[in-house]
This record gives sequence, structure tokens and C-alpha cells, in this order.
Amino acid sequence: MALSVHLLRPWQKLLVGSTASVMTSKWSRCSSVLSGNRVRMVEKSPNSTDPETSQGVCTIHGKQQQQATPISRAVFPPQAVFKRRFSALCGSSEVQEGALIMEKVCLNEAARMVEVEWSGGGVSRFPYVWLRDNCQCPQCFNPDSRSRLVLMSDLDVNVSPVDVTEVSQAKGSSLSVEWPDGHKSRYDWHWLKERCFSTQALSERQKDWQRKTQLWGAELAHNMPKADFPALLTDDRALYDFLVRLDSVGLVLVQNVPCDVGQVEKLANRVAFLKHTCSGKEFVVMNKTKPGSDVAYTSVKLGLHTDLNSYTYKPGVQMLHCIEQTTGEGGDNSLVDGFNAASQLKEENPDAFRILTTVKVNFRHVGMDYHKYFHLKRRNVISLNDQEDIQSISYSDQSRTSILDLPADLVQPFYDALKAFNTIMCLPRNCLSLKMAAGELIVFDNNRTLHGRSAYSPDSGTRHLQGGYMDWDEIYSRMRAIKADLGIEA
Ligand SMILES: [Zn+2]
Repeated sequence: MALSVHLLRPWQKLLVGSTASVMTSKWSRCSSVLSGNRVRMVEKSPNSTDPETSQGVCTIHGKQQQQATPISRAVFPPQAVFKRRFSALCGSSEVQEGALIMEKVCLNEAARMVEVEWSGGGVSRFPYVWLRDNCQCPQCFNPDSRSRLVLMSDLDVNVSPVDVTEVSQAKGSSLSVEWPDGHKSRYDWHWLKERCFSTQALSERQKDWQRKTQLWGAELAHNMPKADFPALLTDDRALYDFLVRLDSVGLVLVQNVPCDVGQVEKLANRVAFLKHTCSGKEFVVMNKTKPGSDVAYTSVKLGLHTDLNSYTYKPGVQMLHCIEQTTGEGGDNSLVDGFNAASQLKEENPDAFRILTTVKVNFRHVGMDYHKYFHLKRRNVISLNDQEDIQSISYSDQSRTSILDLPADLVQPFYDALKAFNTIMCLPRNCLSLKMAAGELIVFDNNRTLHGRSAYSPDSGTRHLQGGYMDWDEIYSRMRAIKADLGIEA
């Protein structure tokens, strides 16, 4: 193990990293092969007392020194002290705040990794093949398209560096690697840190992929996530905060929306663009005289559902803008957190949960709207991800077909499961009722939030909604872009 071979005291080790590349005219570099590991290091003279002025001599560490404390456990001086000394040694201006110095870099041939010991403590290990594959030079990487130019067919996956050095700069260290064909790669400390393979770094990065889901029930009506439409159109931070709420809660009420058509598209264009479906770019929900392909275009009660389950890539998010609301009874929207309902089902009725996560249901949409269409998809009512977490709800009594590809004796248990899920959804504690006013717009996660509508009388004035869809890929993309532009942390 290359890191445990030398016996330097903390202050001496400090010098090893800080002077390795900047004082090569005065100090020699040393190479040694110990226990099959190639180790390169420089060390100050052991009889010197002033590390800032003394001349160093090169020492090759012998096998008798292999019992030393591993560097990763060593105690280092405070960063500020280190930086002052580093500046004095390399003659450069102060090391920039937050920049990291590589105290030592070496090759670990047994593990086929470059090991980097950081000034702030800790060691990172970078596999040889990964370093070669991710060389950032213009021959290997196009910075404009941010894409790799080294193709797998040209990559030697068994390549080993012939040399590694630490290059010290005011902005922090970089790692220089020389390959057998003479090619040289340079990796900035920050770039390496962001890609660290340590258990801690891997678990930190894993958090970025974990959704921060806030489950809710009917009580959300008293604490409804809200957004101001004009702010969403002009303020990127407001748009970002809105999308964060949409992601975690799965439902946001947007207010102060002009009461005319086209607002849904305006909002979608601020995020990315509308998702075109068989209903067209946008759709209108009104009591049409000839409803044709969808019961939404009537005044009857609409059961809780998610939209377009018949699509392989069903829309991720739905927007419904209330342009005009009926003045009579009814026309309220019911909204249910499907993740919350499914979690309750899992707890209360594991058999039903298992059936709905395993049995495939056929969903169909056939009709004539934007064009003549025939969508058909088989899917689970409750989908889990590879961590067994609830990932998506696909529920619609309206579009679930009569064809059930199940052995007959499994049909009754399937209905029992579906009924149990529906019963939980409809519990007063879970089902939020919202009668949108003209000028309001709800945006909700179509993979999670089920929506329905109470019946209303078509004689009590017009009820006019305009709807549209967006996809999560575009939403997440926009969130990352705003986050980077505005420098939003976490
Ligand atoms: Zn390169």
C-alpha cells in the first residue's frame, strides 16, 4: 500500500505535497518500488528545522519504514497555516480560498489507481482506466459539446500511467499524468473532487438522485403550495422554487393567471415547451355538445385518474387553467396524492399492494381529436423503481380496458386490490377538494397526483378549462440550468 510506506511527521508530510512540483530545481524527485507499488515523493532534509528556508535532500524510503501510520489518518495543520506556508514556499500569491492542494500523488500499481492525498485530509483513489478515458485535453474531450472524443474502440482499458505529478497553482493543485505513448493529461483538483470514488462521496452523490417527496392528504388545502403567475414568467428564482415544490409535493396552485386561452403554453414555454399529445398541443375541457373521444368533455362526474396511461411515455406533468368556472353546484376538482395512498395500501393491505405492483393492466385511448389515434399500453397500476420505492401511479377507470390478461381465478383478487386502492384514495383524509376560480391554474405530477371532477349542471353557466402537458425530463433540465445560472446551493 503506497500510502503507508513513509514515516514523515505531519509537518514533514506537509512539505512533501507542497513542494513536489514547485521546487524541483532545488529538490530532486525520488522513485522507489516498494511491495510492488511505485512510489514517488520528495522529502525535506530530516535534520532541517525551518521548513520554509531549508534546502531539501531526496530520500528513498526503504522497506524498514513500512510500519508507518497510514497518511489518511495523519493529523494535518490547519488549512490557513498550510496555505501561508504553501504560498511562502512556491512564491505564488495566496492560495485562493477553498482551493485544495494535493499533498502527495502516487501510483498504486496493485490497485491500478492514482492516489491523491489532500491537504485538508483524506485520500482519493482514481482508477487508471477512468483517468485515461476522461482526459480533458482538446484531443480527448470537446469542451464545447462537453463530450468525449476518445472512443471505446481506441481505449486501452489496461493502460497504466508512467508518471504522475502534482502541479501547484494559486487556484489549487492539478494532477498531471503521463501515459506510455507520451500523451499527457491534466486534471484540476476541483474536477477530481467532484468525481471522487470514496464511499462518502458516492453516498453524497446518491442523495442528488433521491427525490424529496412530501406526502400529503386533504389537509394540504390549508397549506396549498402556491405560485404567482406573473412572477413565474419573469423571475427565474420564482420559477425554480415553483418547480422544486412541484417535484416534492406533486401539486402547485398558480394564481393571477389572465382569464384567456394560451396561458398554459406561456408557462410551459418558461419551463421548456408543451408536450404534444393526441389531444393536440393544448386541450380545452368544456361541456361539448359532441364529446366524442373523452368523457372529460361532458359534465358528468370524473373518477380519480392519471392522464394518458395508454402512452409508453405518458405526460409527466399536467396543467389545468380555469378560464371560466360554473356558478352552480359541482365542477370541483378532487386531487389525491397517489404516493400517499399507495403507501397506505402497502401498510394496510400488502397483498393488494403486491397485486397492483405486479399485474399488468391494459389502458386504451381510441378516438379522433387532434388526429385519429389508437393508444394501447400494458402497465402496473403502481410501479416501483429498482429500490422498490413507489415511482409511478397509473390509474383510470375510464381508460382501463375490459381485456384482462389474467387467469380467471386471479381476477377477483385483482378487483379486490383495485377496490382497496380506490377506497383509500377516496377517504376524506386523503382526498382534497378544490373548486378553481377563474384565473387559477393547477399544475400536478401526472405520475403521482390523481385528479377527478364532481358533476356539474351544464345549465349553470360555462365551465371552461384549458390544459396542457410537460415532461419531467424538460423540467429537471430547466431546474439544473437555473440552479447553475443563479448559483443555487443544494
Ligand atoms: Zn488527452
